[in-house]
Amino acid sequence: MEVMKRHGFDFDLFVVGAGSGGVRASRMAAKFGARVAVAESQRLGGTCVNVGCVPKKLLVYASHFADDFEDAAGFGWTVGEPRFDWARLIANKDREIARLNQVYRGLLHGAGVTILDGQARLVDPNTIELGGQNFTADKILIATGSRPQLPEVPGIEHAVTSNEVFQLPKLPSRVLIVGGGYIAVEFAGIFAGMGSQVTQLYRGSLFLRGFDRDLRIELAEAMRNRGIDLRFDSDVARIEKSASGYVVTLLSGQQLETDLVMYAAGRTPNTVGLGLSSVAVAQDQSGAIVVDEYSRTSVPNIWAVGDVTNRMNLTPVAIAEGQAFAETEFNGNPQKPDYDNVPTAVFSQPSLGTVGLTEEAARGRYAAIDIYKAHFRPMKYTLSGRNERTLMKLCVDKESGKVLGAHMLGPDSAEIIQGIAIAIRAGVRKVDFDRTLGIHPTAAEEFVTMRTPQSPPG
Ligand code: FAD
Ligand code: NDP
Repeated sequence: MEVMKRHGFDFDLFVVGAGSGGVRASRMAAKFGARVAVAESQRLGGTCVNVGCVPKKLLVYASHFADDFEDAAGFGWTVGEPRFDWARLIANKDREIARLNQVYRGLLHGAGVTILDGQARLVDPNTIELGGQNFTADKILIATGSRPQLPEVPGIEHAVTSNEVFQLPKLPSRVLIVGGGYIAVEFAGIFAGMGSQVTQLYRGSLFLRGFDRDLRIELAEAMRNRGIDLRFDSDVARIEKSASGYVVTLLSGQQLETDLVMYAAGRTPNTVGLGLSSVAVAQDQSGAIVVDEYSRTSVPNIWAVGDVTNRMNLTPVAIAEGQAFAETEFNGNPQKPDYDNVPTAVFSQPSLGTVGLTEEAARGRYAAIDIYKAHFRPMKYTLSGRNERTLMKLCVDKESGKVLGAHMLGPDSAEIIQGIAIAIRAGVRKVDFDRTLGIHPTAAEEFVTMRTPQSPPG
């Protein structure tokens, strides 16, 4: 490939990885006038578009129909025996993702970014090798993301991860999921909704470490009520292939039979084959690239954003980091990403949305806090008969009245918390919630009608 050289370099910026962070940084830097190339070894859009947020959410939608069919009866509907076709769902999902890949290609082209398909390797601080050709760049941005990590358990080669699960040839009748983070909880709900018999194992005493404890307890109960065999303080000793599937022996000695073992035991920064040692980019013990608040690595003209830096591994955060990098380096507008009050949701069933401090964190940081809670049966379930309750929580600094955190478990929690996140970012106080009128009848209105704080514990 022939490229025009300016200032002695082929490009002003070479981005490795066209995922959430890399695409945003490339497009913005190009918009600010830089000559940009982005290398992608797999598919444009990265984890989120191809094997993460997007296909996951489509599968969550698919599995929710099970609830809708069940709930319809109480509203007078007679629904025939619903049947689910995994292959059709996967084909439709693949078509949508192929469309998104093209949208990303168009966006990058439109911004004037050169797209290089292939695996990139750093040769020296200004040279990148791809497909046998060397390219030079004034600045390099590493945005290579992360990949699933698998523990060393005998028989682990029989397990799949979130990378493979989106392409299973058929829906397994029995699924064993190992892990207690976002992915494990989300997929337990997805498979259960689609009709699989799901067992989820978590090594600790309560899953979703780091989220508000009340919501974790309530979600565990709701998942068990939905038929998920949720086992805490439980882990795998070995996995063996059997005639009909797999036999999984637990540390307790108990054996379980299953058709699919899925591990969702965290992710590791993606730096294999990147040539980091040849340019002395510092990494921490987990392999994550060490960066400062402006995403600068230990090498002056190399930056890194997104999961590969293992700061807060969410798509909007990777995008914000990519944007801040481009603003700082190519628009003369220094910006640091802000990691406070980042809203997030676990697309479990029921879903969990959260922003700001949990009750536990707030108690640790503030002298006195007030906790407001609403725990109720959603109106829709009064007729459907579904035995599930919504939980909402506000954590408030007693002294200033500032709302420190908002948490919700229940239908639409991600959508509701997104709005509340704006208020919290703006420094909202509890009195502002109280002054806000509700939209009736909604679940969200409960956030503005909670008046009595809970008595302090103990
Ligand atoms: P990525 O999006 O992973 O992009 C990195 C890209 O670099 C990849 O395309 C990779 O192929 C490419 N690459 C790697 N090495 C090279 C190389 N040497 N040369 C060329 N290209 C290379 N986050 C949310 O906010 N909401 C969600 O609902 C959500 N759901 C998720 C569900 C799952 C199952 C998973 C796995 C993740 C989910 N995430 C979600 C997390 C989110 O996907 C990541 O935080 C986000 O994609 C990180 O963006 P990134 O730019 O750092 O990396
Ligand atoms: P998480 O880090 O969320 O959770 C990993 C889980 O695996 C934890 O429960 C952890 O336990 C457990 N675990 C770790 N090591 C082992 C082991 N050796 N054996 C058994 N269990 C183990 O990772 P995920 O893989 O679920 O997701 C990766 C990241 O992707 C998330 O952290 C999040 O940043 C992002 N993501 C975001 C989503 C969203 O926004 N909705 C959805 C999916 C992913 P312990 O707690 O004890 O350490």
